[in-house]
Amino acid sequence: MAKKNLNRSLVTLKCSECGSESKRVSKNKKNTTERLELKKHCQTCRKHTVHSEKK
Ligand SMILES: [Zn+2]
Repeated sequence: MAKKNLNRSLVTLKCSECGSESKRVSKNKKNTTERLELKKHCQTCRKHTVHSEKK
């Protein structure tokens, strides 16, 4: 049986430039307690922008 990791949860990432919320990643709540900030490619901006966790 597959072992479920209860510490991982899905979070929505929001583009800091256009505000689109198209990215979903799983994050480990135990290892990452602060807000996520990741460089992702935004389809609306058509470039890499900083995406931060939506709260
Ligand atoms: Zn964008």
